[in-house]
Amino acid sequence: MSIKTANPSHIKDAAEIIISGGLVAMPTETVYGLAANALDGKAVAKIFAAKGRPQINPLIIHVYNTAQAERYVEMDERSRRFADHFWPGPLTLILDKKADCPISDLVSAGLPTIGVRCPAHLVAQDLLMVCDVPLAAPSANASGTLSPTAPMHVAQSLGDKVDLILAGGASEVGLESTIIDARGDVPIILRPGSITPDDIEAAFGVKPEIGFGNPDAPTSPGQLLKHYAPNADLRLNAVDLADDEALLAFGSLKFMGLKSGGFVKDLPAERILNLSESGDLYEAASKLFAHLRQLDEGGFKRIAVMNIPDSGLGIAINDRLTRAARK
Ligand code: AMP
Ligand code: MG
Repeated sequence: MSIKTANPSHIKDAAEIIISGGLVAMPTETVYGLAANALDGKAVAKIFAAKGRPQINPLIIHVYNTAQAERYVEMDERSRRFADHFWPGPLTLILDKKADCPISDLVSAGLPTIGVRCPAHLVAQDLLMVCDVPLAAPSANASGTLSPTAPMHVAQSLGDKVDLILAGGASEVGLESTIIDARGDVPIILRPGSITPDDIEAAFGVKPEIGFGNPDAPTSPGQLLKHYAPNADLRLNAVDLADDEALLAFGSLKFMGLKSGGFVKDLPAERILNLSESGDLYEAASKLFAHLRQLDEGGFKRIAVMNIPDSGLGIAINDRLTRAARK
């Protein structure tokens, strides 16, 4: 495995690895992706093996524009409106495979549909253009663990299982894409992300249906899985802190107390990381996985997490936290 700064020459190296059936970790605005040629079944199989990912959990493909997507999937009027409005960006559309679609069936886990996204990160776009094949790319981490938002996270999680890591800075959004099925009258959000239900309603005047969050009625494969999990246990909506806990804070710590007496603000700094002192949800999303990872490395038994408001981008943050806390 090697880590190389993303520049035109290294992007060319990465494209050669992909075309010859290897795996490349690429930066995107959401999280780092583990990319392989989606047309090459053997290469796609390597993604599942490297991550230890169950093969029933389908992958998302990445394209550089709508025209490239339309070589592989049917884009109806409704879905095209979403692509026009939100691409390039952190939105994945569930679309029907074309009858003669050459994408490996492993990608869609046997479903008649494929999740497609056009990433906004310039390195991902360049890589897609140089390769000129759709890239299957889940998050570049071992299945079920925290998603990587920096190149070192990929190296720590996957090591030699990835042929090349293209380093392109910290992921700006920090959460996986919003997944939408926009084929029907009412769009259905299958995974919350930084494009919120309010963003969708503001763009199209339709309130989307929420198709996530009910473990008894999963609407997308993979939704039941415990996911994004650190080694430490998580305790959500904490209003105070126990002696064996680290704290993932959000907002002001002024009045946060210790169960054993005293105030959290007087504790050593390594026990506390704040997602956003000012209570900014965008800042919090971008720091979520990196902060969880850092606290986890401290070897604490449990991480207490302060309440995050469950609206706007907070919906996606709470979705990740709830899955991470599942035992
Ligand atoms: P990840 O690649 O780790 O970001 O996860 C991708 C997620 O996208 C999966 O866990 C699925 O829930 C969802 N997904 C991918 N393809 C489809 C599809 N064809 N239909 C519904 N959900 C999908
Ligand atoms: Mg993932």
